[in-house]
Amino acid sequence: MINSEGSSGPVAQVFRGTFIHSTPQTALQVLEDALLGVDSAGKIAFIGKGENVLELSQKFGFNPSEVIKLAQHEFFMPGLIDTHIHASQYSYAGTALDMPLLKWLNTYTFPVESHFKDLEFARKVYTQVVKRTLRNGTTTACYFATIHTDASLLLGQIANDFGQRALVGKVCMDRNDSVEHYRETLQESVDETHRFIKELLNKKYPLVKPVVTPRFAPSCTEALLKQLGTIAKNNNLHIQSHISENIDELELVKNLFPDSETYTDVYHKFNLLTDKTIMAHGCHLSDKELTVFRETGTSLSHCPNSNFSLCSGILDARNVLNHKVKLGLGTDVAGGYSSSILDAVRRALDASKVLTIQNPEYQTLTFEEVFRLATLGGSQVLSLDDKIGNFEVGKDFDALRVNVAARGGPIDLVQCEAPKILLEKFLNLGDDRNIVEVFVAGRKVVPCADQTVE
Ligand SMILES: [Zn+2]
Repeated sequence: MINSEGSSGPVAQVFRGTFIHSTPQTALQVLEDALLGVDSAGKIAFIGKGENVLELSQKFGFNPSEVIKLAQHEFFMPGLIDTHIHASQYSYAGTALDMPLLKWLNTYTFPVESHFKDLEFARKVYTQVVKRTLRNGTTTACYFATIHTDASLLLGQIANDFGQRALVGKVCMDRNDSVEHYRETLQESVDETHRFIKELLNKKYPLVKPVVTPRFAPSCTEALLKQLGTIAKNNNLHIQSHISENIDELELVKNLFPDSETYTDVYHKFNLLTDKTIMAHGCHLSDKELTVFRETGTSLSHCPNSNFSLCSGILDARNVLNHKVKLGLGTDVAGGYSSSILDAVRRALDASKVLTIQNPEYQTLTFEEVFRLATLGGSQVLSLDDKIGNFEVGKDFDALRVNVAARGGPIDLVQCEAPKILLEKFLNLGDDRNIVEVFVAGRKVVPCADQTVE
């Protein structure tokens, strides 16, 4: 259990208490009375037993009296990972849920996204969404912005300023007939993607990186998809998009790309399926398509709130896992109305139970499995599992300090409960009042100096 490998500096903080996380082998591992040290670079320097505090303090050079002890009903868990969220749609989250996808995009989404050419509007919304998601325990977010390069760069700056780990995508779309000014030419899309990548990388933000973002196949010409595949390859970048969300969309893709056998083929053909690709939804993917996902290392973001809210479909997450496709959770704000991954946990369990109602033989996801999807699974989806996702020595300390019995919080405890019960209660009943501290790369980002959401 004790290991100093991967440590890169003196131990800066040491915590003692219950730590709950997942490993690839075990959906839920509870470490009671554990001692975890974080080095000055924000990485986990060691994790050991509380009773060995003296020995560990000598080995790692910390003062046992400075160890921070968790209270009863408290535990640490890895930070939540939102693998799919539209920062630009946050302003109307919680509304506009009365239409299917394609109509919803034309009626609500494109008109709102077109406003992000106004940088002051963008600053307001992006500040709100970064603060709110951090409060909700999202230590890493994979964001869609809009087609506007400067506003997308601003989102990267805001995430960096507040200390959130983020992938940020400037949206690419050279096909859209519904909103006149919300479309790029092929050349604009390519040039602005180059500029976005170059300028964001030049900022050298330690935790914020660009992601190549074709909105989805119906918004892009083949020429654009091809160029984006090349850009991602030449710069070794992440790619994100949507796939197989809704039945009408499948028909549209069939009509627009008659030469492709499946929706998956459209992306595959243009080198957009890689081990750094995150595709949202996938509700209607065939087993054959899931096999292509596994072979290419492409991952899926399960966004159940959105899938229910827009009546898109129900992802068979068990089937995805059986195909050994990397799977994580996404809020898909604002198709999903909640910006909290805790909500995604609950909706993922609901989705699995709906499938069980339809087929009593169905192997329902357990809360432990969904906990893993929200943390370690998300890190695998973003190909960041060498850095985050659980409390392995050498990884960055991205963590939530959870107090299940927080004063004024939503959970009442009648008696002292075991950690596993505390986690289950938090996942099902908890909210930001229970998330008393949030750490990203060892830095405490919640509470921060300015806590008010403007
Ligand atoms: Zn989406």
